[in-house]
Amino acid sequence: MVKIIKILLFEDNPGDAGLIEEMVNDSANYSYELVIVETMEDGIDLLKMGSYDIILLDLGLPDCDGINTFLNVQKVSFETPVIILTGLNVEDIAVKAVKMGAQDYLTKGNVDTELLERSIKYSIERKKVQIELQKYRDNLEEQVEKRTEELDKANKRLKIEIEDHKQTELKLSKYLAELKRSNKELQQFAYVASHDLQEPLRMVASFTQLLAKRYKGQLDSDADEFIKFAVDGAQRMQLLINDLLAYSRVSSRVEEFQLVDLEKVFNDTLQNLKVSIDDNDARITSDSLPTIVADQSQINQLFQNLLGNAIKFRGDETPVIHVAAEEGEDEWIFRVIDNGIGIDSQHNERIFRVFQRLHERESYPGTGIGLSICEKIVERHGGDIWVDSKLGDGSTFSFTISKYI
Ligand code: ADP
Repeated sequence: MVKIIKILLFEDNPGDAGLIEEMVNDSANYSYELVIVETMEDGIDLLKMGSYDIILLDLGLPDCDGINTFLNVQKVSFETPVIILTGLNVEDIAVKAVKMGAQDYLTKGNVDTELLERSIKYSIERKKVQIELQKYRDNLEEQVEKRTEELDKANKRLKIEIEDHKQTELKLSKYLAELKRSNKELQQFAYVASHDLQEPLRMVASFTQLLAKRYKGQLDSDADEFIKFAVDGAQRMQLLINDLLAYSRVSSRVEEFQLVDLEKVFNDTLQNLKVSIDDNDARITSDSLPTIVADQSQINQLFQNLLGNAIKFRGDETPVIHVAAEEGEDEWIFRVIDNGIGIDSQHNERIFRVFQRLHERESYPGTGIGLSICEKIVERHGGDIWVDSKLGDGSTFSFTISKYI
């Protein structure tokens, strides 16, 4: 079926209108429905009532003239393509109309059926494409707007994440500073207390010893016993105070980190513990040990405490002790493995606390400071210390030393 093209022609000159009418009637290719109006007013009324495929527009109408004619038509019927019909001497207005959205212009007197048809066909197609393009552009703009809104929202959310994070960080660093300050205060207190207590304690200890020496047997037997308790007490207190001082010195009396050859540390420790090793017939071996960056005298103390304990807390069998070393990515892992009395796992954490021990002084001597010192040393070297053990089945004390402290 041939599509009928609906044309609205604005033309007040009956001659010109008649020519156009003839041309469209002559067409062999298309069928046309031509509606002719003579005034802008009539044309606008029709455009408001129905739609047309093309508008042919003479710019000089009785009630409107010049470029305004085009603008008025375009206002009510933006989607309909417009071809301007113009006289020979007023082509520049037609060109202006084309610039403002008209599809084409035809000069009256130079038009024939073929030209008119070509122009109509071309104008309809071009307008279609323009409208599609416009829709596409509008859609694109809408999408861009939407995306921008979403982006804005995401940005705002991000700002609130970041703000929260900053607040938390601020709080954390405050807590940390507070913790550092109170830790330092505690260290100082422990140091001053243990240091300053030494002197009066020395007096108590030496004078009770003097009492014991001079007056033993001269007072009654109760007095001898009381003096003995006083001497014991004073001596024990001296031990505790000394240990506390040693504990606080792990933080207050530190040396520069340097290269420390652990093979040498191990051999020196064996030398220091020689009497105890010989007495217990202990056999102590080690993997080959690395050189690490550490505080030399603290590492000596760490080895001494752990190997000393491994011998001291021996079982019935001959003590067999091994020091193992394993290289991790960021740290060294060391293990002191013994075949001694072992530890009930419920005490795994308690034994690292100051003055906490699991035995009577009479069975195993000591004050319970050794492992606390070990823990402090290891922490200062960026590591951890822990025990794996079973009562009666030996213990393994493991500790790590960071490579990058
Ligand atoms: P001390 O040796 O003076 O008691 P430590 O702090 O070195 O103090 O040890 C605390 C407690 O941990 C010890 O009293 C002991 O009960 C337990 N312990 C430590 N090392 C070992 C070990 N190698 N085997 C069994 N128990 C141990």
